[in-house]
Amino acid sequence: MSTDTDVLVVGAGPTGLTLACDLVRRGIICRIIDRSPGPQEGSRGFGVKPRTLAVFDALDIADTVIQAARADTHLRVYLGTDPIYTGRSEPAAPTADTPYPGPVSLPQSRTEAILRARLAELGESVRFGSCLTGLDQDADGVTATIATDGEEETLRAAYLVGCDGGGSTVRKLLGIGFPGRTEEDMRALLADVEVHGLEPRDAVHLWLGARRMMAVRPWPGAATSQVVTSIAPGRTVEPSVGELTRLVAEHSGRDDIRFGTPTWLSVWRYNLRLADRYRSGRAFLAGDAAHVHSPFGAYGMNTGVQDAYNLGWKLALAVRGRAAPGLLDTYEAERRPAGQAALDASDRGLSSAVTPPRVLRPVVRHLIGPLLSRMRAGGRDDHPTYHDGPLGVQASRRTRVRAGDPAPDGVLTTPRGDRIHLYDLYRAPGFTSLSFDRERQVYVTTPPDYTRGTGHDDPDGTVRDAFGVRPGTTVVIRPDGYIGLIAPTSGPELPAYLPRVLR
Ligand SMILES: Cc1cc2nc3c(=O)[nH]c(=O)nc-3n(C[C@H](O)[C@H](O)[C@H](O)COP(=O)(O)OP(=O)(O)OC[C@H]3O[C@@H](n4cnc5c(N)ncnc54)[C@H](O)[C@@H]3O)c2cc1C
Repeated sequence: MSTDTDVLVVGAGPTGLTLACDLVRRGIICRIIDRSPGPQEGSRGFGVKPRTLAVFDALDIADTVIQAARADTHLRVYLGTDPIYTGRSEPAAPTADTPYPGPVSLPQSRTEAILRARLAELGESVRFGSCLTGLDQDADGVTATIATDGEEETLRAAYLVGCDGGGSTVRKLLGIGFPGRTEEDMRALLADVEVHGLEPRDAVHLWLGARRMMAVRPWPGAATSQVVTSIAPGRTVEPSVGELTRLVAEHSGRDDIRFGTPTWLSVWRYNLRLADRYRSGRAFLAGDAAHVHSPFGAYGMNTGVQDAYNLGWKLALAVRGRAAPGLLDTYEAERRPAGQAALDASDRGLSSAVTPPRVLRPVVRHLIGPLLSRMRAGGRDDHPTYHDGPLGVQASRRTRVRAGDPAPDGVLTTPRGDRIHLYDLYRAPGFTSLSFDRERQVYVTTPPDYTRGTGHDDPDGTVRDAFGVRPGTTVVIRPDGYIGLIAPTSGPELPAYLPRVLR
């Protein structure tokens, strides 16, 4: 049976949009549907981490995101109702090998708008108001049932990816378990709203306390703030301005904080769950459909974007019939441990913020500065690594980076004298290999020619230093910018590598 599309992406949140952009730029025919009538309005995830910015660089939207976002942090922390810390930190400066050294802050609705605009430039758009209601699959493809305005249609795709959020229909239709826990007693009221009477206006205000927490985070370049305030166990709460005003007064001990009309109000419940499997036949799960946890640590959207970028190139090869057997299985092997790590880290972070250990409470005032520095350093070091994954070959010893790490950036000079950024090479849809020789030359191969390298100059040896490899070493970089292999150029590992991945 012929197919209507190569890939059907279900859900147009940040995960689905990233995947659709990546597939289309790799030349794959892709449809993307979302059941809501139009774009989601809520600010939700603010933290865009460095590795996500590197993905956005490959999609050509990193500059747009950075221009719209805020990179510094101005923070006021309260313990109970007392202010205990006010501090501002400047963003880390980019370096030659790390162009995106720190996280930036942008409401998720704006990040999604930038992704949608990029998708439109690439020639595709989201079909809003279309809900996946059924799916069947056989050896050749997936048949999806889609309801639009009460009318049902079927669509045949070679592959389907469920990026349809925590309540994923795709996951349920595939019968994939989502074990974990839901804590009905851990809830928060969320709002996007103008806040009056809270100074400094440009600061993030964070109230910590025993089993309670509240944050007011201003949007960059707008009068709106995101307000997140925990709800006491057992309390019945209807999302409304009146309730928001009461909760904020209780948390802050102040009655002079006032609100405009919210553009978004929602109640959030704590869920900590990980899908048993990320794949069933020709259908995959990515983003919140595969893992949900607390917003603490800003992992949700970032992990979804990384899922999408890990899967995109593998699906593109599979659609073209060029994926080696087993390549699609490496998606779950690499990304499920990353999902588990995000769950663990956000759960630890939430518990310590909501309930600072009793013995520590008197000294929280003194610990908060170092703690925030540690969190900022953690934010910089956000990338998951695939050191023990099925696609990593580390055959050279004592290298600065390892197979399974994201490849660093750097600048080389082409034979014509042009300067070229490694990130621009990684943006190409295939593998890149860099062979380092004794003469400070780097032989670069990119698709379609994997056999002959072109000599580029690395006059100061900065690229070699960034990788920390000896002369006579070759590094193969995967189409998602991760290092696949580090091996002696003349050894047996290099010729054996690509056949492991490509048919
Ligand atoms: C207060 C708050 C703060 C957060 N802060 C951060 C942060 O700082 N950093 C971070 O990384 N993450 C953060 N998160 C988490 C982040 O918002 C989510 O992880 C992210 O939205 C997941 O993206 P997604 O694309 O996987 O799913 P979603 O954004 O949930 O998108 C799923 C889409 O699928 C559609 N859909 C569902 N079912 C169907 C169907 N049957 N057919 C068609 N379409 C369907 C939905 O309409 C929706 O548009 C935060 C969340 C909250 C609530």
